[in-house]
Amino acid sequence: MKAEAVEGEEVVGEMADGTPLTLPVIEYDSGSGPSFFVGCTIHGDEVTGQASVWKLRDLIASTGIRGRLTIVPVMNPLGFNYNVRGIPIATIDLNRLYPGDPEGSLSERITAKIWSISRQHEYIVDVHTAGWCIPHILVDPVGGELKSRVEEFTAASGITVLQEYEEERYRLQNLAASLPGVALKDGKVALTVELGGFKGIDWASVDAGFICLRNMLIKAGLIKGRLEVVTSAPVISEKGYRRTSIFSTMGGLLRYEVVPGAKVRRDDMIAEIRDVYGRLKGEARAPTDGYIVSLNATSVVPSGGHLAELAVTA
Ligand SMILES: [Zn+2]
Repeated sequence: MKAEAVEGEEVVGEMADGTPLTLPVIEYDSGSGPSFFVGCTIHGDEVTGQASVWKLRDLIASTGIRGRLTIVPVMNPLGFNYNVRGIPIATIDLNRLYPGDPEGSLSERITAKIWSISRQHEYIVDVHTAGWCIPHILVDPVGGELKSRVEEFTAASGITVLQEYEEERYRLQNLAASLPGVALKDGKVALTVELGGFKGIDWASVDAGFICLRNMLIKAGLIKGRLEVVTSAPVISEKGYRRTSIFSTMGGLLRYEVVPGAKVRRDDMIAEIRDVYGRLKGEARAPTDGYIVSLNATSVVPSGGHLAELAVTA
């Protein structure tokens, strides 16, 4: 068992003024056993998972681990420094840029470095936030024996498990170039965890993230303990759901009739939309039966703006 970590930095490159661009790396290694990678904040303004990692490290300090656990708490340091999703000098989404290129642009060098660290592990968990949401896991398309391994693994997480968008949207969003997308193709058990929060730590989600990570480390055999279901947030226990998005047909301010985790039937009211004069302008209704996964925390939408993420039968 290993309770102490080695903390260090992996050099990606340097900025114009010579400041090194590095990734912080926390490494526990007992010498033998399963190997597990946790990365947070590839989207620089998604930080809740880092606080879940604080709790995880407190736990490991007392229990120790068997095997190897590598944590990169900030995978996008440039975005993190400026509290933005991407990196300030590019408009690119780093989580659509795997496996990267060690001799490419700065963005590609960052994802190449993360891939070179994470691919040394059997399990790869990429922690994000989805704003005003229930904590959930997203599983990219996968087939065969790896699919059953991923299903068995995610079932232990204690939070809602959803499949990714339907095929066309998945392709349009270029999600096959996300870290879990690339890792699954390489035969790893890989997934995305989405916690609450946007541009700050969602404290209500921190525990859920901690319990989820702890459950997965137990399932993979790195720590001992009893699996626990998250009770601080709703959990959709039914299987076979995927995520889908609802967009607003008009601009305005939203007043929601539902909260994340709510079960909705087709045509149930999700939100009313008011114009800037305060007049009721329209309504958004559920296109199909499902569960509310996340809502637009800003309340502000243009035509085509994001209104809600729904879990629907796959
Ligand atoms: Zn994200």
